[in-house]
Amino acid sequence: MNLIFLGAPGAGKGTLAARLSKEYGIPQISTGDIFRAAVKQGSELGRKVQGIMEKGELVPDSLTVELVEERLAQADAQNGYILDGFPRTIAQADALASFQKIDMAINFNTSDEVVIRRLSGRRVCRSCGAIYHVENMPPKFEGKCDKCGGELYTRDDDTIESIKNRLRVYKDQTEPLIEYYRGKGLLRDIDSSTSPEESFSQIKSLLLVGFFGLGE
Ligand code: ADP
Ligand code: ZN
Repeated sequence: MNLIFLGAPGAGKGTLAARLSKEYGIPQISTGDIFRAAVKQGSELGRKVQGIMEKGELVPDSLTVELVEERLAQADAQNGYILDGFPRTIAQADALASFQKIDMAINFNTSDEVVIRRLSGRRVCRSCGAIYHVENMPPKFEGKCDKCGGELYTRDDDTIESIKNRLRVYKDQTEPLIEYYRGKGLLRDIDSSTSPEESFSQIKSLLLVGFFGLGE
């Protein structure tokens, strides 16, 4: 089950990929998480991508593709995976097709309004990466992760300026992937403007039909 989650920043890809990963035992591979970990470590990769990410620009394709190719070669990705935040350009999608067979691309549909509200209230756990929202998905104790007790913080790129830029970049560079995967017969749509529970059940129905041969 090789899956791609497509959609604007804040569409809910990360939240849903984490849930699905747990339920089906396949890894969530988030290029954003990998880059953030590199920034935190202060590695060479981290130094290269930090400024790009803060502005909400895209990391160069060659660098991103190489990283994903390496990650997908690891043992835990041999029985399926969820790509969350990759590919983000046609060039990345073409490169991916040259070394992997994708089964389905799930397109998360929302509005700009919902996305801006979600990103500006988003909080992330510094230790385990769990995602919260100050109003929609608050932690039990303010500023503390329910899962691990870690400190919650606002991502450096969840500022209004960077959010606007990420939406612009999404429309220019990533949105064309919807037609790209539709053309290959791989695209499936969900409405991700409501709750994570609602999105989760839509995704599970798609997987039941696509992989387990059960009718709708
Ligand atoms: P979001 O979907 O909320 O924008 P991500 O965590 O997916 O957040 O990505 C954060 C940032 O990491 C992006 O704005 C970009 O700078 C970089 N990034 C992540 N994935 C890619 C990718 N596939 N190609 C280029 N840059 C990427
Ligand atoms: Zn945590």
